[in-house]
Amino acid sequence: MTNSLQKRRLCILGSTGSIGMNTLDVVRVHPEQFKVVALTAGKQTDRLAEQCIEFKPAIAVLHSVDDAKALSALLEGKGLSTKVLYGQEGLIASVSDSDCDTVMAAIVGAAGLLPTLQAAQLGKRVLLANKEALVMSGDIFMNAAREAGAELLPIDSEHNAIFQCLPPQFMSANSTPKVKELLGVEEIWLTASGGPFRNTPIDNLVNITPDEACAHPNWVMGRKISVDSATMMNKGLEVIEAHWLFDIPLEKIKVLIHPESVVHSMVRYRDGSVMAQLGQPDMRTPIAYGLAWPHRIDARVAPLNLTQLSGLHFMEPDLKRFPCLALAFAAAKQGGTSPTVLNAANEIAVAAFLEGKLPYLKIAHVVEKTLNQLTSQKARSLDDVLEFDRKAREVAAQHIRQG
Ligand code: NAD
Ligand code: MG
Repeated sequence: MTNSLQKRRLCILGSTGSIGMNTLDVVRVHPEQFKVVALTAGKQTDRLAEQCIEFKPAIAVLHSVDDAKALSALLEGKGLSTKVLYGQEGLIASVSDSDCDTVMAAIVGAAGLLPTLQAAQLGKRVLLANKEALVMSGDIFMNAAREAGAELLPIDSEHNAIFQCLPPQFMSANSTPKVKELLGVEEIWLTASGGPFRNTPIDNLVNITPDEACAHPNWVMGRKISVDSATMMNKGLEVIEAHWLFDIPLEKIKVLIHPESVVHSMVRYRDGSVMAQLGQPDMRTPIAYGLAWPHRIDARVAPLNLTQLSGLHFMEPDLKRFPCLALAFAAAKQGGTSPTVLNAANEIAVAAFLEGKLPYLKIAHVVEKTLNQLTSQKARSLDDVLEFDRKAREVAAQHIRQG
């Protein structure tokens, strides 16, 4: 653990996105505790340039070589010595060559897998927002983190809540199954807002536009995760994420719709206790928790005022309304390469929907057809994972073209 004289050295993968910018918001409040040593983005050159000028990282990364050259020239002109890299190799170098001790994994989708895995393999503190990386690679990722002694701290609000509600021994690498059994964890309850279409008549979902799907009632997030929240694929991915992170059997993970998004998730214990974590729907809370763990720092989040809430409601999700959730449950149960295929097909279908090339209700169809076509196999290596990810993208794209 860093002491007060040592600053945490932070690499933010996906610094220009919603989680990335919220992370910088928290860091800005605590300059004495954090030093930003690497920042990465896909295509948002202007925003990354502003961030580099403010935080002066040693390394910055963009997706394309041309954008990287342009950024490099701009930063040189400002007298900065930031090294600007590009592509997957650049992302990996931002983790391995920046002298960081902490990596915020906030790239969206499979593009974040290799640099996040690199962070785990190097034994860094990994703040995991990028759930797709863990869904794709499951035990391969968890074993890498365990072997290298990486501190894996969940940033997804639900998993962060569960992490806070579990006793520390539950997450300890030294805990035997017997010790875990004594801790009496019976179930974990993942809460879900139900998204913008929780009560929309199903027939009205036919002509949903990307902007309507991205208008989340409680959270402001990137467009891909916003669509996943509308279809509830997000909760499906989170069930798989929880299964790996907490090493809990799928049967013990339940989903509850909770429209107010105040209770971020819960743990039910053998003796009848239920532990819940509550807070504003503001990602700066879990981000600050991960950054400072085991300490707590000011996240500039307004205090929760329970007397101003009209009520807290909980209900079972309707799997007919949310077929993506049912598909995720099925893929999770199937195991092997099925979660990789589920995730890849969903990424392709959601991207097509956001580009206006696929109707909203067809997202689930594309995922289902792709899962049916690619029989699950055991994922023995990272190569197996990457191969199934590639195949699933091809198959999903084919289904989209065929309509
Ligand atoms: P976002 O779309 O706002 O940001 C994504 C970031 O990744 C951007 O910096 C973008 O430039 C970068 N990026 C995208 N494609 C890339 C590529 N091919 N190569 C390199 N960089 C690339 O997304 P977000 O909402 O910040 O979500 C990030 C991750 O965190 C997702 O995995 C999401 O599921 C997870 N998450 C987000 C929230 C939230 O509130 N936004 C909550 C929980 C979990
Ligand atoms: Mg979440």
